[in-house]
Amino acid sequence: MTSIAPLRAAAMLAAVCMLPAAAFAQRQAAAAPVPARSAPLANLRYELTFDSASAAQRTLKVTVTFDVGGPGHVLLSFPAWTPGSYEIANFARFLTEFSATAGGKSLDWDKLDYDTWRIDPAGARTITVRFDYRADTLDNAMAWSRPDFAFFNGTNLFPYAEGRGFNFPATVTVNTQPGWLIATGMQSAPTPGSYLEGNYHDLVDKPFFVGRMDLDSTQVDGKWNRLATYPAGAMTGPARSLLWDQIAKVVPKMAAVFQETPWQTYTTLLVFTQEVGGGSALEHSNSHVGIYNPGFIGNPLLASITAHEIFHAWNVKRLRPADMWPYDYAQPQETPWLWVSEGITDYYADLALVRGGVIDSAGFLGLTGEKMAQIAAAPATALEDASLSTWIRPIDGTQYQYYPKGSLAGFMLDVLVRDASDNRRSLDDVLRELYRSAYKKGRGFTAADWWPAVSRAAGGRSFTDFNAKYIDGRDPFPWSDVLPRAGLRIASDTVREPRVGLATAQDSTGAILVQEVQPGGVAQEAGVKTGDQLISLGDVAIMDPDFGAAFRTRFGKNEGDSLPIRVRRGTDTLTLHGVVRLVARVETRLEADPDASEKAARVRNGIFTGVTGK
Ligand SMILES: [Zn+2]
Repeated sequence: MTSIAPLRAAAMLAAVCMLPAAAFAQRQAAAAPVPARSAPLANLRYELTFDSASAAQRTLKVTVTFDVGGPGHVLLSFPAWTPGSYEIANFARFLTEFSATAGGKSLDWDKLDYDTWRIDPAGARTITVRFDYRADTLDNAMAWSRPDFAFFNGTNLFPYAEGRGFNFPATVTVNTQPGWLIATGMQSAPTPGSYLEGNYHDLVDKPFFVGRMDLDSTQVDGKWNRLATYPAGAMTGPARSLLWDQIAKVVPKMAAVFQETPWQTYTTLLVFTQEVGGGSALEHSNSHVGIYNPGFIGNPLLASITAHEIFHAWNVKRLRPADMWPYDYAQPQETPWLWVSEGITDYYADLALVRGGVIDSAGFLGLTGEKMAQIAAAPATALEDASLSTWIRPIDGTQYQYYPKGSLAGFMLDVLVRDASDNRRSLDDVLRELYRSAYKKGRGFTAADWWPAVSRAAGGRSFTDFNAKYIDGRDPFPWSDVLPRAGLRIASDTVREPRVGLATAQDSTGAILVQEVQPGGVAQEAGVKTGDQLISLGDVAIMDPDFGAAFRTRFGKNEGDSLPIRVRRGTDTLTLHGVVRLVARVETRLEADPDASEKAARVRNGIFTGVTGK
């Protein structure tokens, strides 16, 4: 799924709110009792045009040409979602100007359902369908454009013949402005600007960047990697070299887990825009698309999300729960396994960072400790339930818990397997075994694959109880039992720090706006309101979203002092009167235990390095 990693809490809100509302209920109600079936189609060619003229209309011009191989109506359906982005988006809603012709003559058409067009071929052998697609949604599962650039996903633009399966080859041709570039994971065809894939699943798994961008490539782990970034000039020089260096460090450590680098070429496609406060990215089998606030450039979070998305090339794009094998583009595919597909991917992103030397072991423990704190503060939820529920985006605080909590479950399993096997086996072995026994055999994995594989790696230890308590159940994770096995411990300090009780977000002009005022907090008592623009807290000017650190440093010892809060409300500038209030906060952190046993120290080192054995 889209990994959403905000620079700060308020930004997360912005990133989540960008997603469109799900329409699961409507979709179920509309499911037809008898599956419809199109006349057979062959020789599908998708052609699209994006140049400065269509960019001005934020539109992609699409032409689909195909041969009709049998009797009956042609039924062309559009996907409802993009795999990895677990929400119903109904791409058919972005179409305008639909037409169908054969030999220059119009053909009759109507809608069979809301995302299926029914065309009467009237005896024609070759049909051309044309439509415009509105590219104005800034979401990595969708299509978006600027005057000099567009990105889009195949799920948005490429209809399929209803009821005829997905095992058909197709070509894509992109027409664009001279001098504009094209970046995609699709295989190039002999004609410039043309691409081909052998089946629909691969066709719609290769998003495109078209327009002005920075594009370069290098070899990583013996395979080509490309980096495309928009806008041109946004990520150049040292920041670009840094990301390249990080990619070069993490990829071999991920490949080592599976003993395979599964792509010919991997393409990282990044958009940087002030239109988002946070960052999110969406995985594909040989690429990913990331959309970030420019503040992510050079920020460690960018390396972290990039590692997460690249690891997905193995975990979820290839090793995948059977519930999503094969993908069904017409309806939600609920699975209780997102804690593995997303959570364990997150764990391996951290592992790749530490094993590749992008962060040190203290950095890894810091990331893990943050996840522990995040889960401790959240409502208890079962990992299976959180996984299943993502499609409806529950409001109870459990949404997306399968990321941090699933990551921690993976960490626990890794420790327990290493502990039980005297560090001879690890979670790496489990993933590698399933990759070979499920993905390589052309199927998804189930509980009957997963738990026996974990148990085998752990020398036959049963995980039935573990599953019941921590995956299917809501029991708190047993850190006091698990951490010592890896020579780790939780240390805690109480810190007292000033707090005003505000959540803020930066708008597109750079202003820091109040999003939320905490009841009973200093800001509320002073009269700060949602929507106010924050100008200063005492003598700390609010220039950027990271003002909190400066504020805490300035007022950390000033309990009870007067705190003028300056805000802009409409056209007025107000000075509100608050007081500095220090609030106690228990800061817990994960640290290496210097008194760990020799075995526990080996387990700990094994996690940090990927090494097994003595
Ligand atoms: Zn993910």
